[in-house]
Amino acid sequence: MLTIALAKGRLLKEVNPLLESAGCALSEDPDSHRKLVVETDNPEVRALVVRASDVPVYVEHGAADIGIVGKDTLLEHGGQGLYEPLDLGIARCRLSVAGTPGTSWSSERNLRIATKYPRLAMRHFAGGVGKPQQIEIIKLYGSMELAPLVDLADVIVDLVDTGSTLTANGLVELEEIMPISARLVVNKASAKLKHVAVNRFVEQIAAALGDTNS
Ligand code: AMP
Repeated sequence: MLTIALAKGRLLKEVNPLLESAGCALSEDPDSHRKLVVETDNPEVRALVVRASDVPVYVEHGAADIGIVGKDTLLEHGGQGLYEPLDLGIARCRLSVAGTPGTSWSSERNLRIATKYPRLAMRHFAGGVGKPQQIEIIKLYGSMELAPLVDLADVIVDLVDTGSTLTANGLVELEEIMPISARLVVNKASAKLKHVAVNRFVEQIAAALGDTNS
């Protein structure tokens, strides 16, 4: 039995067609059920539908053999216990700094940053030419766009896709930090102990990617 941890929400919608072409379609729509363990069309594969930030935790601890989650979440998690064999190339977006138009930072000023990615924001802004003298990270769990509007922070570090959420709130993208896409990750022990099943699943997903791209 293989256990796959999937991030609920936006990513799951893009992962569903891949699971279908790989013969592992979810037996129920997690959005309309409260079930957290979901069977798939493949009796050898079951899915755990969890918060994105929990996916690396389940996989690292071996509660799931495989996970599908954004690169942003993986980097923020920072775990070493995972293999990352596949860039799925879906849920593409970018991690960016955003704020009100004209916002800038310099080595003479302190900068307050609201984000749900404290580790990545710290890494981006810490030290170096033109970086703020001092930074204050304000951890939020959602609606980052609000922070600069009510002077909770000078800038936000968040995912940007079309940019329409920023525009709707009078904000602009100030700097791109990195491109982001969804990745398939594998628990290191599962990669050894269940290598036949893990490799088969990874190959099926890779083939499904080829199918959906062609
Ligand atoms: P957009 O308005 O299309 O730029 O989307 C921005 C909003 O959607 C922000 O609240 C982001 O946190 C969220 N978002 C954008 N892309 C993704 C993604 N690939 N995965 C998760 N959340 C995303």
